[in-house]
Amino acid sequence: LTYKGLGITDFVHGITVFKELKPGADRTGWVKLFSATIEELLGIVPSRIVIPFQTHGRTVCSIPHDAAEKLSGSCDAVITSAPNTLIGITVADCIPLFAVNHTDSVTGLAHCGWRGIATGIVEAFNGRLDSVTACRQDTRYLVGASIGRCCYEVGPDLLERFPAEEVQANSVCRDGKVFFDLKTVVASRLVGLGVAPGQISIDRTCTSCQKYILSSFRASGTESGRMLAFAMFSR
Ligand SMILES: [Zn+2]
Repeated sequence: LTYKGLGITDFVHGITVFKELKPGADRTGWVKLFSATIEELLGIVPSRIVIPFQTHGRTVCSIPHDAAEKLSGSCDAVITSAPNTLIGITVADCIPLFAVNHTDSVTGLAHCGWRGIATGIVEAFNGRLDSVTACRQDTRYLVGASIGRCCYEVGPDLLERFPAEEVQANSVCRDGKVFFDLKTVVASRLVGLGVAPGQISIDRTCTSCQKYILSSFRASGTESGRMLAFAMFSR
């Protein structure tokens, strides 16, 4: 999926799909595969590609300006102002949340599954972005392709981790089942943190509905593959 640059020149971002990847496959192997593909597609050498080890937590990592150092610890969001440094996160139904601030030359990506959202990844990501941008009103967010409310049936294990008002505002009941709209939850939380609605775009593409093209762990299980969301200032 190639997005339209959020109206910003020099900002490269999108999602590539790796159908051949199996969950549980050796991480070193698939990071190498992602890096080789990105190098082929965009000409970025692997030493300038940063893909963290994700744990559904709320840790945000910053990549230094002078080097795309390999991250030693785990984190679920990455922020950088380094040019020509590609950051990536992997998803298969979870939300890839893109952020870019052209004025301050900062970009970030967060992995937002329900566990991470319940734990506070959206708040941590927004807070860190605000701390490194002078003009926070210029930060644009994109809620990327992920599972939609149409297919996201949820149970009590999820619902009890969210405030009741948030559940009521973002779910529908159908045939005795509850379907939850995680994309709107993320956008609403950003608004609650002071982001203007006009700063947020939502890709309503549902990974489960598009399981043959995209990666949906819910719909395809071990055959889902993985999607790599990536972002970079090209300068
Ligand atoms: Zn769907």
